[in-house]
Amino acid sequence: MLKFYNYDIVFAEIPDEVSLAINITNCPNRCKGCHSLWLWKDIGEPLTEESLTLIVNEYLENITCVCFMGGDNSPKEVNVLAEFVKKKFNKKTAWYSGKEEISTEVSLLNFDYIKTGAYKEECGPLKEKTTNQRLYKIEGGKIAGDLTYRFWKK
Ligand code: SF4
Repeated sequence: MLKFYNYDIVFAEIPDEVSLAINITNCPNRCKGCHSLWLWKDIGEPLTEESLTLIVNEYLENITCVCFMGGDNSPKEVNVLAEFVKKKFNKKTAWYSGKEEISTEVSLLNFDYIKTGAYKEECGPLKEKTTNQRLYKIEGGKIAGDLTYRFWKK
């Protein structure tokens, strides 16, 4: 079962959106140089439709997007919760995955944005032009564009 450590309102993770970012634990990716080692542990509260409803209701009027930060240990559950958010709250959904490819266990119809790629020290984070990570815009169940450049300084 997915669990979350905490959540926050963030502005930088998804361009042009005010996102409720939910930090999911038990990350299986083990990226060298990870800055969030606590997310490797199987800790936190269960992330269910019930707990998600309580969190989203807290910020309903202020957010435009719900962003699942992690969840590569169970993409199927991320998929179900993203669909739930869309149907129940009519908010956009985003997923920060650390895998190189988008999991085949999710339906792109349930997402507006998906970030792929593990953190690689030698490539740097999303804000570096050398990054291996990508943020994709999803529309109508298909990748509609690569928004990674929006993180780069002009
Ligand atoms: S995906 Fe994120 S949380 Fe997981 S190990 Fe990599 S950098 Fe850390």
